[in-house]
Amino acid sequence: MTDASDIPVRVRAEIAALPPYRQGRQAGADAYKLSSNENPFDPLPGVVEVLRESVGVNRYPDAAATLLRQRLAARYDVDVSRVHIGAGSVSILAQLVQAVSTPGDEVVYAWRSFEAYPWLTVLAGATGVQVPLTRDARHDLDAMAAAVTDRTRAVIVCSPNNPTGPVVSQAEFDAFVARMPADLLIILDEAYAEFVTDPDAVDGTRILAAEQPNVVVLRTFSKAFGLAGLRVGYALGHPRVLDAARSTAIPLSVTGQSEVAAIASLQLEDELRERVGVIAERRDRLAAALRETGWRVPQAQGNFVWLPAGEASMTIATAFEDAGLIVRPFDGDGIRISVGEEESVEKVLHVAASVVRDLPPEHPGVRASVGT
Ligand SMILES: *Cc1c(COP(=O)(O)O)cnc(C)c1O
Repeated sequence: MTDASDIPVRVRAEIAALPPYRQGRQAGADAYKLSSNENPFDPLPGVVEVLRESVGVNRYPDAAATLLRQRLAARYDVDVSRVHIGAGSVSILAQLVQAVSTPGDEVVYAWRSFEAYPWLTVLAGATGVQVPLTRDARHDLDAMAAAVTDRTRAVIVCSPNNPTGPVVSQAEFDAFVARMPADLLIILDEAYAEFVTDPDAVDGTRILAAEQPNVVVLRTFSKAFGLAGLRVGYALGHPRVLDAARSTAIPLSVTGQSEVAAIASLQLEDELRERVGVIAERRDRLAAALRETGWRVPQAQGNFVWLPAGEASMTIATAFEDAGLIVRPFDGDGIRISVGEEESVEKVLHVAASVVRDLPPEHPGVRASVGT
């Protein structure tokens, strides 16, 4: 907590109270960075090529990112007006929350989920309503539905859930949307959609055909497409809802470089999908082996796994760091480990096996504690 009296100018009290943003630790040369869910593969040569060729940084980019919107519209067989591009899907999330809420309004989301949700809500002046995950780290959609009041302006559903990993099923999602007021914005955050292998998982692109105009789907080039450093993501949804997001956007924040790299990535989608397949297979292997060591790992459908380390999270994260593995601990809750280079897998398993032995058998992160 920051003390507002330290700030030399007047700052909104709720902003002063926010903890300063801290990024997942940068890894030293000999460490594996498994803390930010990035893609461990280098960019494809075809993507590097267009970046090298793209010149003209003295000119502003196309504010509407028209070419990329057209490609995505063709990709999903929808009108261009149903696609919106942002400098990372986080910025679109911020736009949407800002577009719908005023002070006193509420935004409902699961917790623990993506770290950006609480502060984006605060920035918009709204109040976050956090609905605890179930014991197996899934969204509790019944409880989320029950948390919706006439003050609620948005519900955020994150599938697969960052940082815990499970998906929401299509059936659960459709039932949830059907129960919600028709004028309530439902944001389906699918930053990890490309890694999903569960056939029952929700697929946001299906809503484009369904009668769900209050649902907006968020996807990104940061994770599966490996362009985290370029900042480009997109939303699919009703044109008028996306117009509202566009109205709150900081103009020209999507650069020409990110646009050409995203277009090149779409052209190389088959190659990228192969890499995604490699990561998904590595993830399944890692999650299964972690369960073997005794950890109770929830369903892992993103490019990361979750260790419910609870109170031991910070201590255990230090053990990983000492072994050259930068992981992402959430104090009191658990540790998220991104699926990285193949060589990191054995190292992760080695540390995970040694630290789980030190946990008491009744610890909720230990499989024996729940008999699963
Ligand atoms: C990484 C992530 C995003 C998006 O990141 P951008 O780089 O801004 O596109 C959005 N939601 C979740 C849950 C994420 O983990």
